[in-house]
Amino acid sequence: MISEVMPSYGRVDISFDRGDGAYLFTSDGKRYLDFASGVAVTALGHNHPHLVEALTKQAAKLWHCSNLFRIPEQERLAHRLVSHSFADTAFFCNSGAEAVEAGLKLVRKFQHDTGNTERYRMVTFDGSFHGRTLSTISAGANAAHQAGFGPMVEAFDHVPFGNLNEVRNAITPQTAGILVEAVQGEGGIRPGDVAFLKGLREACDEFGLLLFFDEVQTGMGRTGHLFGYEWAGVTPDVIALAKGLGGGFPVGACLATERAAIGITPGTHGSTFGGNPLAMAVANAVLDVLLEDDFLAKVRTTGNKLMRQLEGVAEQWPQVIESVRGVGLMIGLKCAVPAGGLVTACREAGLLTVPAGDNVCRLLPPLIIGDSHVAEAVEMVGNACKSLAS
Ligand SMILES: *Cc1c(COP(=O)(O)O)cnc(C)c1O
Repeated sequence: MISEVMPSYGRVDISFDRGDGAYLFTSDGKRYLDFASGVAVTALGHNHPHLVEALTKQAAKLWHCSNLFRIPEQERLAHRLVSHSFADTAFFCNSGAEAVEAGLKLVRKFQHDTGNTERYRMVTFDGSFHGRTLSTISAGANAAHQAGFGPMVEAFDHVPFGNLNEVRNAITPQTAGILVEAVQGEGGIRPGDVAFLKGLREACDEFGLLLFFDEVQTGMGRTGHLFGYEWAGVTPDVIALAKGLGGGFPVGACLATERAAIGITPGTHGSTFGGNPLAMAVANAVLDVLLEDDFLAKVRTTGNKLMRQLEGVAEQWPQVIESVRGVGLMIGLKCAVPAGGLVTACREAGLLTVPAGDNVCRLLPPLIIGDSHVAEAVEMVGNACKSLAS
């Protein structure tokens, strides 16, 4: 008989009933160090007092209001996001896939409204992930996500991640833009080569395309910069945000320059729940913390320490971990054993991680961690390696 929760996930038989900072607790009291963060969502850990206060205060005032009216918390968040980014304007939605979808529509509308009606296709990359709607599985390059759901939305030209020649070859008179993750997340924590990412900007400028960064995973401090494009030193025209933006509250956003968003006028796009007061209050609270002096600098130093120490573990257990890679607190352990085995062994040692493509075990800790969490996690990964090697 089918499970009453539709069986679209393979689930681990553990459930949590409480979180505190970097830790999660099961109902029977077992504690885990959470370096999964709900896949890069709980960026400030669990139960952050500032977020709890923002949510409960707003909950006592107003939950929902249609976008047919002004929403002050939304205007405030838009102002803060654009004043700390390349962008001039923000559209709010509820998830990563919707944020990517909004960006894809915006790119098409830009081309259409600037007289390039034949330009509708996007260049996207092998190994990429952009969400689970029909158009985002079509944009992504995961065969398992596409299987049985065809025909795909026929508007994406996939090229190898990192190969600028192939990108330039794939550009045709029908190309509208390029969609890329600066650091591929689900694909296995594969940081884009900075020269390659700069080359994408140049190709976009040369051919009149828009550069669209999917920052659903890399955004909101994950790379040690507020946005992944800052790490890369490349300015996009459009970005998609979600995951860490709400610190655990569902919210997404599409940010764009005024020029790129030229086609977005009243009635062209929308979302019933997008930008609701609850989500906006929490996202503003997340931003309060990320924008504190030295917060992101600490993410960078903590990330470096974690990476160096994990390299030490990899040297000690080369039969388990082949290499360590990543940016900021977005770290991948490329495994010499099946990555799922390392994820399980880490969990048995008390550490939650996430499997990713390319046989990688992903570490996405909350951005609030300090040296003691690093030491604890490194010891647990070492114990997991030991259990797998013996
Ligand atoms: C998680 C993710 C998405 C999809 O986000 P959802 O909220 O699950 O729709 C899109 N792009 C990237 C890069 C992601 O990591």
